[in-house]
Amino acid sequence: MLNKIKHEKNTDRKVAASALTNAGNNINGLSTIGRKKIRNFKNLPPIAFPAQTILTNQLLRSQSAEDSERLIPQLENIYLSSGEYLHQNGEFDGYVYFPETAVISHLQTLTDGKTVEVAMIGREGASGICETFGSNRPAHYAQVTISGNLVRMRTETFKQEFASSGSFQTHMLEYVNAYLIQISQRVVCESFHVIEERLASWLLMIQNRVKKNQWEITHEQISLILGVNRPTVTQAAKALRDKSLIDYSRGRLKIINRLELELSACECFSTLQNIH
Ligand SMILES: [Zn+2]
Repeated sequence: MLNKIKHEKNTDRKVAASALTNAGNNINGLSTIGRKKIRNFKNLPPIAFPAQTILTNQLLRSQSAEDSERLIPQLENIYLSSGEYLHQNGEFDGYVYFPETAVISHLQTLTDGKTVEVAMIGREGASGICETFGSNRPAHYAQVTISGNLVRMRTETFKQEFASSGSFQTHMLEYVNAYLIQISQRVVCESFHVIEERLASWLLMIQNRVKKNQWEITHEQISLILGVNRPTVTQAAKALRDKSLIDYSRGRLKIINRLELELSACECFSTLQNIH
């Protein structure tokens, strides 16, 4: 059953109160602040959120009712657009982010500007946990690939919960293990698999997170994520389109035949799909 959060306007604090309903559990107090096209995430102005939001992040949904009741009031809901960074200037911003409908790319870069995605973070996980383990600086850039909603928790709060709640700690460590498996698999993928297979796997990984058949993405964006030049992406995308597996136009990409696309993907997709 989906967790449903109902938001009400609070004019004094300019945040929204909310109620979570999940199998009889009513949890109040999810605050919401954020807006599109922001760069300073520490001082987000408030916006009016939809009357009802669905909490879809699997890490948060996996918490016990007792932990959820304590955690939900400490979360903030924000909307981030494609291309925005979670960490600026090589520094953490003091939050752990739990994507809802958004998808985050952890990108590693070289001094010549070349980039490659080392991990994809969607509704199955969280971004920013490394800071809670003592890292002084991010190991990578964290950039929004698919626009959408996220909820975030202050890093200090996350540390307190990690230290005090055994079940919270267990769930987070399980996710960190899955995250490390993803990075390991991506290294192998980017070393040995051809671009058409990699593109098919990557598109399927996106679809598993956004839960829809089409979304906004350009070949230029994909080239930065997969670490190849744009013409190579266009050639691979055309090959998949010629097989009627996908279609794309004007910055939108659509998966037409998922089952056949899975057959065109490298083994990494099924490996990574099964770790969550
Ligand atoms: Zn692969």
